[in-house]
Formats: sequence, C-alpha cells, structure tokens
Amino acid sequence: PLDGAVPTVPVHGVRSGIGDALDDWALLPTKPDWAGGLRDAWTPGEHGAHEQLEHFVEHALEDYDQRDEPAMAATSSLSPFLRWGEISPYQVWHRLHERLEPAQRQNAAAFLRQLAWREFNWNEYFHCDDIATVNVRRNFDAFPWREPSDDELDRWRQGLTGFDLVDAGMRELWHSGAMHNRVRLAAGSFLVKNLLVDWRVGEQWFWDTLVDADPANNAANWQWVAGSGFDAAPYFRVFNPDRQLERFDPHREYVHRWVPADELRPEPMVDLKASRLRALDAYEQMRRS
Ligand SMILES: Cc1cc2nc3c(=O)[nH]c(=O)nc-3n(C[C@H](O)[C@H](O)[C@H](O)COP(=O)(O)OP(=O)(O)OC[C@H]3O[C@@H](n4cnc5c(N)ncnc54)[C@H](O)[C@@H]3O)c2cc1C
Repeated sequence: PLDGAVPTVPVHGVRSGIGDALDDWALLPTKPDWAGGLRDAWTPGEHGAHEQLEHFVEHALEDYDQRDEPAMAATSSLSPFLRWGEISPYQVWHRLHERLEPAQRQNAAAFLRQLAWREFNWNEYFHCDDIATVNVRRNFDAFPWREPSDDELDRWRQGLTGFDLVDAGMRELWHSGAMHNRVRLAAGSFLVKNLLVDWRVGEQWFWDTLVDADPANNAANWQWVAGSGFDAAPYFRVFNPDRQLERFDPHREYVHRWVPADELRPEPMVDLKASRLRALDAYEQMRRS
C-alpha cells in the first residue's frame, strides 16, 4: 500500500528521532517521494562521478588509513559510479597513480588494492556467471541453513535486530542505498552466521537496495562472508557485532546517525555466544556430510 504509514510488523517501541529520514523504516514507501533519501545522498551521472573522484583525492585520501571506521568519510564512495559505468576503473586507477608520491603512497596503494578486488570479482563472474546463486565451493551445497521466519527477516532488513552496528547499517542502506564496507561485513555475517540464513537471502536484499548493487561484487562478497567463495573468509571466523562496534565506532558516532541515542531498543534477537556455537556446529555437520 503506497499510502500506508502504518508498519506491518511490530516496531518494538521504536520511534524515529531524526525526522523524515527514518519515517519509512517499515520498508513501506510511505510517501510518494520515497527515493528522496537516495537523491540527497547521490549525484548520478558522469559529472557527479568525476566530482566525487576529485573530492576523494583532494580531501579524503589522506584519511584512507581510517577507512574501516564508518563514521569517517574516508572512503571514495565511487562504487555506484563504477557500477553504472559513469566512471571507469582505468580513470580512477590513473588518477590515483598520480598520487603515489611519498606523502600519499600508502593510502593510494591501499585504495588501489580495493579497486583490484573489484577486478578480481568481475574476473570471477566472467568465468562463473552463476555466482549469485551457486556456491563456488560446492561442499557448501550441504550446509544446513535455517528457514527464517518472515518476522526474523523483517527485523534484519528493518534494522531491528537489537545489535546497534547491524541496525544502523541496515537503516542506512534502506535510506540511502549505501552501507559502509565494515558494516556490510558485520550485517552479512550476522545474517549468515548468527541467524544461520542462506547467504543468497542477504544477496537478494542487498541487490534490491544497494545503489552499487553489482552482479560480481555483491555475489562474490556475500560468498566471501559465507565462506563459500573463492579466497573466502573461513566460515568458523564469526564476527561479533558488538566487538566490531567497540573497535570501529567506539564513540557511536555512526550508530547514532541512524539509531537515535534515546531510542527504546529491541531485545537482541539472538544470543551471540549460543548462535556462534550453533553456526560452528552447522559447519561441522557440513564437513562431515
Ligand atoms: C556483503 C557485501 C556486499 C557487497 N556488495 C557490493 C556491491 O554490490 N557492489 C560493490 O561495488 N561493492 C560491494 N561490496 C564491497 C564494498 O563494500 C563496496 O565496494 C564499498 O563499500 C564501496 O564503498 P567505496 O566506493 O567508498 O569504497 P572504497 O574503499 O573507496 O574502494 C574503492 C572501490 O574499490 C572497490 N571495492 C572496495 N571494496 C571492495 C570489495 N570488498 N569487493 C569488491 N570491490 C571493492 C569498489 O569499486 C570501490 O568503489 C560488498 C561488500 C560486502 C561485504
């Protein structure tokens, strides 16, 4: 229902503290202009892409060593422009190469390594065009994923899991179509490992909501998180979203952009210790089968 301002699922006492930005948490388009958040965050087109590149090189590259902190605007935000062909990786590569002078060398090199991940994933996609649906490591076909309830999935999608970093990220995604890489890792790991939900469910949600949704990068990164991809994170390494928060957003600057400090928070939807053990157990089951 396009005019339905009433959420279809319980919102656990949550209220929006930051005005219009979060009025549509229930994932319903409550206003005709439901894409307003996307428009605020992005200037699509070739001109916007080049402005973004220049802004990054001149103002943010020097902070790129803090790229894992989601509160910092330390990354380039070039992924949607690259995804839609509004700038080419060659143009980005050459502009950054000019910055391989001593003062910026380390940050520029770290950035170019990230760009190389994109090329790696596209190369993988070229050779395996079914990476969004098929486990690269076929032994994962025997993985005992759980069938989540609709309520569980809604809580993850709406940012109501009770884990602040995950919730902030899922709300940022819904509002702006973006999510910081570190937070994608935490939200993805939470779905796949703590909720034991098949990575393809997460891949589809990101595919529907990310402005940089990319057939190679999205699928390959979800398989990386799940442990089923090329060169993937080992399944037994389970991110703890609370520790990730302490480490990468210790002052909750990022979290409070999306989860108001005075919000009445839902109870955590899983016990982190027990769900970690359940995930490790499922992995063992797969290995034995
Ligand atoms: C679960 C999950 C899903 C993801 N889905 C996508 C997706 O659909 N599209 C997408 O472009 N990226 C995806 N990524 C990778 C990464 O999160 C984004 O590329 C990055 O956050 C974009 O921000 P940026 O442009 O500021 O990155 P920067 O740090 O400035 O990096 C520069 C460029 O390098 C590339 N890059 C950076 N990190 C990665 C990576 N891990 N894998 C591949 N390329 C990378 C991107 O093109 C990016 O624009 C995903 C990551 C995870 C964990």
